[in-house]
Amino acid sequence: MGELFVVPTPIGNLGDITYRAVEILKEVDLILAEDTRTSGKLLNHYQVNTPMKAFHMHNEHRKLEEVISKLNSGLNIALISDAGTPGISDPGFLLVREALSQRLKVSCLPGPTALIPALVQSGLASDRFVFEGFLPPKKGRIKRLEMLLYETRTLIFYESPHKLLKTLTQFREIYGADREVSISRELSKMFEETFRGTLEEAIRHFNTHTPKGEFVICMAGFYNK
Ligand code: SAM
Repeated sequence: MGELFVVPTPIGNLGDITYRAVEILKEVDLILAEDTRTSGKLLNHYQVNTPMKAFHMHNEHRKLEEVISKLNSGLNIALISDAGTPGISDPGFLLVREALSQRLKVSCLPGPTALIPALVQSGLASDRFVFEGFLPPKKGRIKRLEMLLYETRTLIFYESPHKLLKTLTQFREIYGADREVSISRELSKMFEETFRGTLEEAIRHFNTHTPKGEFVICMAGFYNK
């Protein structure tokens, strides 16, 4: 039986990939990529010539059976996403769950993901944390935020630039203006920046500095400055 390798890829800087990740990508029989054009650039850079097929949120249900039968027939397959670790706010979970239910071997390589550098450089408590990923866009959003009101662990959210101010404003309403946040953008890229301060200060900052790029919001837990 073949093995499924979940392979993290850079979140910006092309150099942020492990030697082992490149080796595995060269050795496997097939690479499943979220976007074959995006991943093609990375694979070219590292001279990986392994055949590649698309595996993304629009076809993952449909492709599941085919991928599992390839693994069952002995092919080794690597799963990559556009950036970071597959399965972390990216496709991957369904395939991992299905492969495990068929008693196939699954290995996730350690590697890049945006939440960890954002948390560690936030200066907020990093011994215990909660990763919330993207908030629901509409239905259930406020309820989710209210459920986190008394959460004492550091909270981590992914957010898009055009929703950042709206989200920070909702946070202020629910968690109070003094709650500490650290907001990292464009991690590992040319315009990487981290803003640290209260929610009130963050809103003031992003009202005068239009949010651009990719963002991770880290917020102190309840009574946990
Ligand atoms: N799989 C990825 C990971 O392991 O972090 C996450 C993919 S998710 C579709 C994309 C979101 O991750 C972005 O909207 C942003 O919130 C966060 N992100 C990814 N790369 C980032 C970066 N270089 N700087 C800041 N945030 C980033």
